[in-house]
Parts: sequence; C-alpha cells; structure tokens
Amino acid sequence: GSVATAPLEVLGRDVRVPLVTGGEVTYAALDYAASAPALQRVWDDVAAYAPYYGSVHRGAGYLSQLSTDLFEQSRATVADFLGCREGDQVVFTRSTTDSLNLLASVLPAGTQVFVFETEHHASLLPWRDARVTYLTAPRTPEQAVASLEAALAQRDPYGPALVCVTGASNVTGELWPVRELADAAHAHGARIVLDAAQLAPHHPVDIAELDVDWVAFSGHKLYAPFGSGVLAGRADWLQEAEPYLAGGGASRKVARRADGGVDVEWHSTAARHEAGSPNVIGVYSIASACRALTEAGFDSLVEREQGLVTRVRAGLAGVPQVRVLSLFGDDAPRVGVISFVVDGWNSSHFAAALSAEYGIGVRDGLFCAHPLVRTLLGSEPTEPGECGSPETEPGEKSLNAIRVSFGAGTPDEHVDRFLGAVT
Ligand code: PMP
Repeated sequence: GSVATAPLEVLGRDVRVPLVTGGEVTYAALDYAASAPALQRVWDDVAAYAPYYGSVHRGAGYLSQLSTDLFEQSRATVADFLGCREGDQVVFTRSTTDSLNLLASVLPAGTQVFVFETEHHASLLPWRDARVTYLTAPRTPEQAVASLEAALAQRDPYGPALVCVTGASNVTGELWPVRELADAAHAHGARIVLDAAQLAPHHPVDIAELDVDWVAFSGHKLYAPFGSGVLAGRADWLQEAEPYLAGGGASRKVARRADGGVDVEWHSTAARHEAGSPNVIGVYSIASACRALTEAGFDSLVEREQGLVTRVRAGLAGVPQVRVLSLFGDDAPRVGVISFVVDGWNSSHFAAALSAEYGIGVRDGLFCAHPLVRTLLGSEPTEPGECGSPETEPGEKSLNAIRVSFGAGTPDEHVDRFLGAVT
C-alpha cells in the first residue's frame, strides 16, 4: 500500500469523538508535541513486515536473519537521515529521555555539564551525578550564546565538559541557536548534545552541519509511535564506558574466572548499549518515518507549518485575554508549538473545555519544563499538584498553560476549529 500513499499522510483523520453536548465530531489532534499521529506509510511498512517478524541478533532461522537485516538497515537509514559522520554510532533506545540518560551514564569521570534551566526535564535532569552548571533563562538567542561562553570560560579547561541543549522548545516552539552554541562549546573544548525531540519532526537535523557531538530524538514525535528512540553521534565516550544496561547482546564474551567471578568483554559497537532483545518494530518504524520525511522533503512541510503558525499566532493575538508565551520574543523563529494562557481561565479547565465541547486535543500543564514555564508565567513553585491549580481570577497569575501543536497532516479545519473556539 505504501506506493499509493502520500509520504506524509497521517492516521486518525476520521476518528470520531463524543462531545459533552451529546453529538460527536472528528478528533482534532493538536498535541503533536506530546506524540504525533503515525504516518500511514509507517503503519503500512510495519503491517507489511509484521508477518516476517523475528528475533534480532538471536536466531538462525530465516525470519530472524531478515529481522536482523532490517534492524541494521534501519540503523543505516537513521544515520543517513541525521547526516552522520564517519565513525558516528547510532544507538537505538526507548526515547529521548532514555537516550539522554544513556549519555549521562557514559560521561568520563569529572565531566562538567552545562545546561540551561529552561530545558525540558529530559535534558535538564539526567546529569545530576555530574558537576552541573545551570544557566539562567536567556531572553535572546544571542544572550544564550554569550551566557554559555561566559560559563565555559570559567570552567576547568583540562577536564571533559558537555553542553546539553534543546533545538526547539516543547513549550514556546522557539528555535535555539544550535550551531552557535556548538561553536562556543567546541571553542572551549566542550562537547554538545542536541535534544532534537521537537526539532527533528519539523526541520532537517544534520549532525555534521550543526556540528553537534550527539543528537537524541524519539520516534513517537516523529510520526513513528512504537516506543523507540535514537542517540547518534561520537563513538568514543560510548565505547569507553560501561554498558548502559548489562545483559545479552551487549556482551561479546563472558567466562567464569578461576577465582569464581565472571569476566565480560563488551561489544564496542552500538550493541554495547542495546542489551536485551531489541524493539525491532519500533526501530523499523523510525526508519520508515525517516524515509517518508526524506522522500517528501522538509520544504513543503516547513512552509505549510509556518503558514499555520502565523495563522494561529495572529488569531490568538486578536484575543485580548490571551497571552502567548515566548522567551525570545514575537519575531523569533519557531516550530508549530504554541503555549498560551487565558486571563480569567484555569488552563486545565480551558483545555478540558476544548476537548469536551469541540473535540480538540491539546495539552495543559507545565509541560515537563517547570522552571521554564514558571519563568514565562512569572509564578513561584507551589505545592505538588499545581497542575490542577485553583481557578484564577481575571488579572491573577496562571500557574500553568495551554499548548497547541501541529505538523504533517494537520488540516486547516483543525486550526479553524481551534481559533473559532478560542476567539
Ligand atoms: N525533550 C523535549 C524537548 C521534549 O519535548 C520531550 C517530550 N515532551 C522529551 C525531551 C522527552 O521525550 P520522550 O518523552 O519521548 O522521552
């Protein structure tokens, strides 16, 4: 079926959901930043492969060999998609969170980590066993680069260092100056990992062009919702460290020692960090999404999405009670991820009303980026459970926000319905 399907057609366009009024309506998925709908192509590819499913790297049978080939071909597809350099490794993980935790587990002893407090928790929190410098929220991309440079200039110049930065914010959708931050990191002998969870679904990510040392992303935000992710980049730290998980597949040779212990020789390929039977469906689906995106090219996707960004922002700007959240200002380039608050409305109730009355799926809360959202709202940390915050009075500060996000396959009607509901 693949051949007849347009590469970026998505599933779920005809799903009917009940409304509180008793009627029903087709679901408007406007929460791509949490999980994007699957591409029809991905679904077709997975369905075509399903009967031939077999264990990867663990069987002599024909289907095992076929699955192993598909698994390793998928690695090559992802390497191509990311423009990997000679010697880079592509490690398959469960998600961006998993990828960044994996990287945190292989840091050489004494590594200093530099991270902006505005990061998603997945890129903010995994480094806590290292020496971490948290950089204050910058208000322009230039400030971000200057602040990183100033922090790196203070660092112990002989030890290893790592910068972790998100390419596109999951809260504001704003693009970060990745290449400039990479140049700053390298000028000070540090390395850099790019959290591309929100960037990869909207923009080409070229590891060599951005000159980052590693890239992490998740399949389920890249139209491949089968529980897999990627950490790609430099092999050395990955090969020198203990495996992320100990177990079968990561070990090349295991032998009992005369003294009663066990000797292990670990693989020095990506397999070192992929212990256990791999998620071949997840990996195959990521590769399928990469192929579909490559075939369609990002130009039309970006052009269409930017049109929707402009419309949504213009629509929201016309509602006096709405405030759109932004770190870098109105003119900053951004992807199709927009967060806002509505004066006099509790954001959770607002989001619930969009679902119940209009069949629109958005997200409310602090979006796993608590420090950033608090900075943007000017609010203080409150008790646990703050996402279900009390009613706000007009003029009172919101404690959480509403996020609308979209991408490939978002029809005009979903955006019209959303703007109609808000305005
Ligand atoms: N980084 C960013 C910027 C994200 O938006 C997300 C998901 N919201 C993650 C990391 C974590 O991705 P996952 O939940 O797939 O591990």
